[in-house]
Amino acid sequence: MKTEPENEYRDRRSLTNILGMAKRLLGVSIKENGVYADFTMGNGNDTLYIKKMCPSGTIYAFDIQPAALEATKKLLEAEGCMDENVHLICDSHANFKKHIPETAELDGAIFNLGYLPGGDKSTTTKTSSTLTCLSGALDMLGPGGVAVVCVYPGHEEGAREGAAILELAEGLDRGGFDCLYHRLVNIPEAPFIVAFQKKIGKTPKFRKIGKISL
Ligand code: SAM
Repeated sequence: MKTEPENEYRDRRSLTNILGMAKRLLGVSIKENGVYADFTMGNGNDTLYIKKMCPSGTIYAFDIQPAALEATKKLLEAEGCMDENVHLICDSHANFKKHIPETAELDGAIFNLGYLPGGDKSTTTKTSSTLTCLSGALDMLGPGGVAVVCVYPGHEEGAREGAAILELAEGLDRGGFDCLYHRLVNIPEAPFIVAFQKKIGKTPKFRKIGKISL
């Protein structure tokens, strides 16, 4: 039974399935022995997805709520995915540089902003720490690395985060990053995605295939 509008966004067969789309975009970064960050661990669904996508990878997952670490550990153990390469860290993502070696290059990162559905709505991500973390994570992306951000503009802080993230994305040098904006244009309050990919090398030249320029 769909009692909450957000359930609509979870339907796998729906264009409104923002979390499914976020995972697909993160899948672009799949790499053997890759290094990944889940900057908003919550119940661990994204951490689990990353571990299944890249079993040999290293994952740093962050949350400020101890309950999130417990839930994630339990989930990963139940799925046989908990090992020494999964680091569950109880700290703000704004402090991630204390926990990820500074020489590391991230292959992928995910932010599922806001508050835990069914949890305390006041424990929500905040624009200032989100931006500190996101800009640091973009610096740490390796060539071809992807950072995917799910934004929930239906609540006040989410709307602020969304505006700030879009401003950051629009201002990034096109020679360094590709920035993608994915949203339901007829539902302004619906969750949306901003994704960033660090360019692999030189900006590719436009080329013509048949009648289409690529
Ligand atoms: N990815 C999660 C999952 O798969 O279940 C859902 C994440 S939930 C929408 C957002 C989470 O961000 C909450 O668990 C909240 O505690 C966490 N959070 C809020 N502020 C944070 C911060 N500064 N650093 C890290 N996590 C934070």
